[in-house]
Amino acid sequence: MKSIFFTGCWLFGILALQAQGLISKPSYFKTELDSLLETQIVVSLDSLFHDMSDFKLSTKYLKEEESELTKAVLNRYFVSSIRRKRTFFKDYSFKLINLYETKKNNYFLTVVVTKLKSNEVHHIIDLLATPTNQKIVFFTPIKHHAQFWKNHTVGNITYHFRDTISLLNAKEFDRKNTLISQKLGLTPDSFDFYMCYNEQEVLNLLGIRFLSDRVGLTRNGFGVYTKTICAIENHEDFSHDVFHYYSGKVNQPQDRNWITEEGVAYLWGNAYYTDPNGEMVLLTRLVSELNAYLDSHPDAKLFELFERNTKIFSHIAPEISVRSTIAGVLAHEIENKKGQEGINTLINAGSKNRLETFLTATEHLIGVNKHNFNTRVKKLLKRYPTEE
Ligand SMILES: [Zn+2]
Repeated sequence: MKSIFFTGCWLFGILALQAQGLISKPSYFKTELDSLLETQIVVSLDSLFHDMSDFKLSTKYLKEEESELTKAVLNRYFVSSIRRKRTFFKDYSFKLINLYETKKNNYFLTVVVTKLKSNEVHHIIDLLATPTNQKIVFFTPIKHHAQFWKNHTVGNITYHFRDTISLLNAKEFDRKNTLISQKLGLTPDSFDFYMCYNEQEVLNLLGIRFLSDRVGLTRNGFGVYTKTICAIENHEDFSHDVFHYYSGKVNQPQDRNWITEEGVAYLWGNAYYTDPNGEMVLLTRLVSELNAYLDSHPDAKLFELFERNTKIFSHIAPEISVRSTIAGVLAHEIENKKGQEGINTLINAGSKNRLETFLTATEHLIGVNKHNFNTRVKKLLKRYPTEE
């Protein structure tokens, strides 16, 4: 009786929702699933996309255990990428092109999002579906894709990787994770860390098979979101963004000065990118390189390099910033002279007019301002503890 009642409710729901029908099935679509289950999945998938049609996403149609991670993936790579297109849900079609069982009660599906007028593909999204409590819920296929990867836990970090990892780098990251969290008055979090080579691989792992905004881009990882990291360049040390993650837990967005944020991320973490040999780039190396640059460019002015953020490290990695290097050296001096309280003041110098507010803070904390910048920073650079 109960099951007839639920089936009845479900069918009623199916009929009601099919009227709205965002999700369609192209003529070539075929599945071996029985037709009731197929319809249930399509109806729930339709509800999931309806849920995102006001550019917000609840966890209503997401599998509970994976809901936060799935939400982070869909928010970052779907909702954020369409938010500015107010008529997106009218201008695009959403086609289910793939649906099959991967293991008992787990169904792998693919939705392709195309522009109605031109048929241009905007997204191809993979999700897993599973029945639970009389409804179908969805989740990111990251674990499905990484199911045959190896795992190894170092301290608070569980690495997922294809071949090998460097335990030396892994231990260093675990050490920094503990140190950075403690400096900010927090206890270290545990992370699932997926080792990837580039952004396209990260996107695929998370179920974003194609995203038109990010075609050809390779240099962004994923995370830290809900204790998950997908690194690029297959490097074990993600401490740069781990600093931003912990800082975001204790500092308010309107206060965070992003010149400081980058400087401290370089100082306590790393420069995020590796060099052409796959070695992570640390502040000590950048200070040596900057000193060498100043020796070979006697007319260069440190304040100009800082203000313009001149590209001088492109031979290491194009994104590496001289401004963040200098901010890291200033943060190091402030940490030595004023301790954690000084760093907190510098981090919270303000998000607006960031160059100005950063310099107001350095003047207040250690007397470095625009006028004495060249001489004071030069001295700090010369005595910074660089590599042997
Ligand atoms: Zn950063």
